[in-house]
Amino acid sequence: MRLAKRLDKLPPYLFVEISRKIAAKRAKGADVVTFGIGDPDIPTPQHIIARLIEASQDPPNHRYPETEGLPEMRKAVASWYQRRFGLAFDPDKEVLPLIGAKEGIGHMALCLLEPGDVALVPDPGYPVYSVGTMFAGGESYFMPLTEENGWLPDLDAIPAQVLRRARVLWLNYPHNPTGGLADLDFFQRAVQFAKRHGMVVCHDAAYSEVTFDGYRAPSFLQAEGAMDIGIEFHSLSKCYNMTGWRVGMAVGNAKLIDALLRVKSNLDSGIPQAIQYMAIEALTGSQETIDRNNAIYKRRRDRVVEVLRSIGLAVETPRAGLYVWARLPEGWTSADFAALLLEEKDIVVTPGRGYGQQGEGYIRLSLTTPDDRVEEGLRRLRGWRIPAPPQR
Ligand SMILES: *Cc1c(COP(=O)(O)O)cnc(C)c1O
Repeated sequence: MRLAKRLDKLPPYLFVEISRKIAAKRAKGADVVTFGIGDPDIPTPQHIIARLIEASQDPPNHRYPETEGLPEMRKAVASWYQRRFGLAFDPDKEVLPLIGAKEGIGHMALCLLEPGDVALVPDPGYPVYSVGTMFAGGESYFMPLTEENGWLPDLDAIPAQVLRRARVLWLNYPHNPTGGLADLDFFQRAVQFAKRHGMVVCHDAAYSEVTFDGYRAPSFLQAEGAMDIGIEFHSLSKCYNMTGWRVGMAVGNAKLIDALLRVKSNLDSGIPQAIQYMAIEALTGSQETIDRNNAIYKRRRDRVVEVLRSIGLAVETPRAGLYVWARLPEGWTSADFAALLLEEKDIVVTPGRGYGQQGEGYIRLSLTTPDDRVEEGLRRLRGWRIPAPPQR
């Protein structure tokens, strides 16, 4: 049997590797504390579950959904955007429900890229932007995000020969994994840049509601002219503890939304309707969950940041997102350090290198670990003297 060459180009999916290592450790009886994947430990709120149970009893919901989603679902998305960002969208032309943001992000590349076209992708970044690009036959140009430039890409530093072939600029703020933030001013510059060079902007706003210390994230679509060239991906996963239900949405330029719908309607048949009713409940019902979650994550964040600093890691306190991004002492690679933590402390973290070359020298800790497990992990770290890095 011969498989397509594109499969050979896939990086090993980061969390599959890590899950394998954890399983091996646990099989040996280790009590592993994991700060790995960003997957809320808090259950989906009861009012949302109640809606699922009710909707599951209704036979029309047992049948194929429409790819474009229930009209009520698209309306719920539009009304949420209106309330949250003061933006008005046509629910029939500018909104598209997704089987999670990841699905939409992956498929979007098929709408935009011809073989040889370039996608501008943040490094470090969520791996799906570059993987989707590769599946579409495109090439990723990795824009380095660094501490010095506040985790924002330096758009003016992108070479002219890259810009000539670039069709899409991927952005993600609040940023996974660094916790970097973008203000409306940056989004404004991104719109002007994209218009100047004839490209589309895709903004991944999966963490816009996971914020602390009074910070409120803007929507990319609030930037002037963003609707001319842009689309924003959103997710119910992180803010409503709904990762397992797989539901998200895209909002933006009608031509881009229609292109994504056309690709999707040929590949999937939409979100199970009972789950769309959960999403409607999440978006239009009580928003208390968000504040409650954020208070929990903030408390964990503060504990984790304090202990990591005390053992000598350089950490900024993130004002958004589910992660603490920590710089390792000089000489350590992220893979060696993650392996050391697993070996010596039975603690799982994600090596920064998994998010790109610029992630080297960093580790990511997810705050979606239950409080008692966070405390157990921190207990193991407190007072730890990090050894000298291995000689190479
Ligand atoms: C978690 C995550 C997503 C995926 O969201 P789903 O709706 O669960 O598919 C997308 N983008 C980023 C940056 C994420 O961290």
